[in-house]
Amino acid sequence: MRILSAFIPRTLILSLRRFQTNSISTIRASMDPTEQSLRQSLSEKSSSVETQGNAVRALKASRAAKPEIDAAIDLLNKLKLEKSAVEKQLQSTITSSGNGSLNREAFRQAVVNTLERRLFYIPSFKIYRGVAGLFDYGPPGCAVKSNVLSFWRQHFILEENMLEVDCPCVTPEVVLKASGHVDKFTDLMVKDEKTGTCYRADHLLKDYCTEKLEKDLTISAEKAAEYKDVLAVMEDYSPEELGAKIKEYGITAPDTKNPLSDPYPFNLMFQTSIGPSGLIPGYMRPETAQGIFVNFKDLYYYNGRKLPFAAAQIGQAFRNEISPRQGLLRVREFTLAEIEHFVDPENKSHPKFSDVSKLEFLMFPREEQMSGQSAKKLCLGEAVAKGTVNNETLGYFIGRVYLFLTRLGIDKERLRFRQHLANEMAHYAADCWDAEIESSYGWIECVGIADRSAYDLRAHSEKSGVALVAEEKYAEPKEVEKLVINPVKKELGLAFKGAQKNVVESLEAMNEKEAMEMKATLESKGEVEFYVCTLGKNVSIKKNMVSISKEKKKEHQRVFTPSVIEPSFGIGRIIYCLYEHCFSTRPSKAGDEQLNVFRFPPLVAPIKCTVFPLVQNQQFEEATKVISKELTSVGISHKIDITGTSIGKRYARTDELGVPFAITVDSDTSVTIRERDSKDQVRVSLKEAASVVSSVAEGKMTWQDVWASFPHHSSAAADDQE
Ligand code: AMP
Repeated sequence: MRILSAFIPRTLILSLRRFQTNSISTIRASMDPTEQSLRQSLSEKSSSVETQGNAVRALKASRAAKPEIDAAIDLLNKLKLEKSAVEKQLQSTITSSGNGSLNREAFRQAVVNTLERRLFYIPSFKIYRGVAGLFDYGPPGCAVKSNVLSFWRQHFILEENMLEVDCPCVTPEVVLKASGHVDKFTDLMVKDEKTGTCYRADHLLKDYCTEKLEKDLTISAEKAAEYKDVLAVMEDYSPEELGAKIKEYGITAPDTKNPLSDPYPFNLMFQTSIGPSGLIPGYMRPETAQGIFVNFKDLYYYNGRKLPFAAAQIGQAFRNEISPRQGLLRVREFTLAEIEHFVDPENKSHPKFSDVSKLEFLMFPREEQMSGQSAKKLCLGEAVAKGTVNNETLGYFIGRVYLFLTRLGIDKERLRFRQHLANEMAHYAADCWDAEIESSYGWIECVGIADRSAYDLRAHSEKSGVALVAEEKYAEPKEVEKLVINPVKKELGLAFKGAQKNVVESLEAMNEKEAMEMKATLESKGEVEFYVCTLGKNVSIKKNMVSISKEKKKEHQRVFTPSVIEPSFGIGRIIYCLYEHCFSTRPSKAGDEQLNVFRFPPLVAPIKCTVFPLVQNQQFEEATKVISKELTSVGISHKIDITGTSIGKRYARTDELGVPFAITVDSDTSVTIRERDSKDQVRVSLKEAASVVSSVAEGKMTWQDVWASFPHHSSAAADDQE
């Protein structure tokens, strides 16, 4: 939960959703009826056991007849058995309904162990015991990331002719003041009152409720429903509400059990100063988007002053997360890939929408969330036509994000597009959808796709004084009614002296509604109270200080602030979910161990192919070198394995890195190519090997095509070799 300072009015809190996202979403489901009735039944059984236990004790105390005591004990044992059967049923319902964490944790452990052992990633500065929330990518991790980013460039930048920029991470304060980050990019924090250790307040509450729901079988159905409700609405809690819940549940510091402070906002930006004087305050950027907004004017000119157009940036973002956890999912430095698509607010159609309109995938509109339903498959074209998705351009990007993620290897059944609830969204935002991917940690927000209207460009126009606007030239001049606000500087100067400039700017910035209301009040009362935000107070404006009118004018063009549609991709989160979705185990040939496999599509596989001689001899090694040279010349990443270990072991090693193809050199004229998932093999001539692997790795041919074109043997036969 990213929240704003406590003193900001609630309407404004809600209006700044940009700073509230970034949460790993809670499961918004009402209580499963089976779970509810099992909890009910368990509490009944528990009280029957207790009553019967008391009855047995009473019989014994009153020295009742043995047969009577024995009968009571039999009944007690029967009730205990019934209670334990319900307990087991409840435990398995909790586990299978997705709330249970046991299977998920075991699966995650297997994935993470493999990732760390094979150096997909490494905790940064490990020899110095590391720093939470910072990770290095090792060789296969770097290769996967580079493949994901190059596909991102191809799928978005190339496809839409986007303008790519690369801006600095160190950003002067004024930019982030204008964007609102300096004042509002905060999370609520609590401190251990004795040791000073910091925790994210909502995390503690979330952990408490989740643990109660998953591990405490004794809680009543009503209490379980209450915890679920808290999980669903906690993102909207004010600092006071959050603090009150923490107190009500008696939550203490997890490490020491000491009492906790009240929640208070903590700004997540890393602060720095620019230059040796230390006088220019700056921050490490928390997102890349601001770099694009501040360059809007130049990019618009570069694009021949035409809309729509999009700019994109890939780069590092920094957030000083209070308690980073969940591995690669919540870190303090991460790669963002962001698109800012600038569009005329009066025309948000998209010429290529028909390319994606027939797609069907899991969508979770806000109505379904509010009524406790789950995500369902919707046709994107219909969702836009019905207004569920606000406009075609937003719909187009939702469709393109779906194609991007599924082509990377994300399981389409575990990907959903969740619409922000009305109270999650900024008042200026037209509509927002998150691409959420299900992982062992639950549904994770990996891409945010938001129609942010003109908010960002307006904020920078106001702060910098540079008009970040676009024009539409009319074929014929148009007669329009224009609002004209003329502050009378002489009178304002006399009244406000040094503050005159602030008052003038605020008067000129009024929109039509505000100006006409002021005009009416001035005419009726001669004076009006007016809030000047740059002064932070009300001033009194008199009739002689400003003239407000509407004039008819001929206009040759329309000048407007473009709307921004922003897909924002957390690359590390996507990659981690991809690891989980591609991970599987299969028994070794002897059946004595489970082997790990990453079933990466060739597009993202860190290495496309391994080459190894079947046995160590000079002839085969020469042939291996020839193939390697050819693979390099066609740009196929590969690894040579000349260790003398058994071929089965060598295959297992490459499977664990997700290498999709293996060339085994077993003659000096022909070789076999093995496909990782089916374990099927084809035989091709030595000369053809590199080009076949290159075609299939780059998607120019499918494995089925290769299988049909060359002599082959299936996995059953191949197993004999492994
Ligand atoms: P936001 O600007 O908060 O909407 O974040 C944009 C995207 O960045 C999210 O959709 C996430 O995928 C990713 N993201 C945000 N915070 C983190 C973090 N601490 N660690 C990793 N990825 C993050």
